[in-house]
Amino acid sequence: MNRQRLALRFKPYHLQLKNTFTLARSSRTTTPVMLTEMEYNGLTGYGEASMPPYLGESHETAAQFLSLLKLDQFNDPAQLENILDYVDGVAPGNCAAKASVDIALHDLLGKMMGQAWYQIWGYDRTLMPPTSFTIGLDTEAVVRQKLRDAAPYKILKVKLGRDNDREMIETIRSMTDLPICVDVNQGWSDRQQALDLIFWLKEHGVVLVEQPMPKTAIDDMAWLTQHSPLPTVADEALQRLEDVKKVHGVYSGINIKLMKCTGMREAHKIMTLAEALDLKVMMGCMTETSCGIAAAAQLSPRADWADLDGNLLITNDPFEGLKLIDGKIVLNNHPGIGIKPRDLSI
Ligand code: MG
Repeated sequence: MNRQRLALRFKPYHLQLKNTFTLARSSRTTTPVMLTEMEYNGLTGYGEASMPPYLGESHETAAQFLSLLKLDQFNDPAQLENILDYVDGVAPGNCAAKASVDIALHDLLGKMMGQAWYQIWGYDRTLMPPTSFTIGLDTEAVVRQKLRDAAPYKILKVKLGRDNDREMIETIRSMTDLPICVDVNQGWSDRQQALDLIFWLKEHGVVLVEQPMPKTAIDDMAWLTQHSPLPTVADEALQRLEDVKKVHGVYSGINIKLMKCTGMREAHKIMTLAEALDLKVMMGCMTETSCGIAAAAQLSPRADWADLDGNLLITNDPFEGLKLIDGKIVLNNHPGIGIKPRDLSI
């Protein structure tokens, strides 16, 4: 008798961004992603690696890594821990490429089990936090246009870290009273100035500050968190499970992204550890298709904040099935991660 084996396929894809995406240190109009499919016994799971260039992965590195994998040695997708231990051990780094395998395997296994992952984990989907909508660094006219696009959302995320931080917030405040998360992307270097600015931001309706200082500024960050009237959230300072203990006591919370931490398996472990350490949790994303976002959304009912707008920032999403109603992702109960490709020929 022929025993079934896991089969993996992958295809490079370019996400087209609606607006040029500007961070404190870079800007771009496309993001390379690798789309994956894992097949077993007539069922297909979908995955994705999103690889913004500043993180060091590319179509080439992902193709190289995925080609090394010998998944046909596995004949039971339910052995998810063993399979993903193997994938993680094949080469260091390659976190987004690893996530593309992890997500496809979760989607496949959920389909075999007939359950969505939030159901398998026992999460209440009605507890989904509102998704924040990102406003990049830009001219006042562009910011005003983006705010019009952001009308359905209940919370905004604003990129700070240049010399016009107060101006950006004042522009936004002149148009809306929505709560604002700010992401500084390591852009502030002086802790006292950072603290003064955080007090000012709090008066202007800002609710949290993500990665205010460089990830290496550990002592300054611990001091800032201790004195800050707003929660501080580690993003660049936290990648994988092993980093959680390093940021504990230094930040008030963490931003978990599947592409940083190799996928849903490790994100779930990070979230569990964060709860035990009383760290707040944001589920975040890169610019991604609805595949990566739907995978992250499965974990998000347990998060304090959801920053899952990556698929809303692109014009060529190859998947459908992810619904956003009244500023919140509404998880469906389709097995796996709940999305399907618009075009079946990956
Ligand atoms: Mg960030």
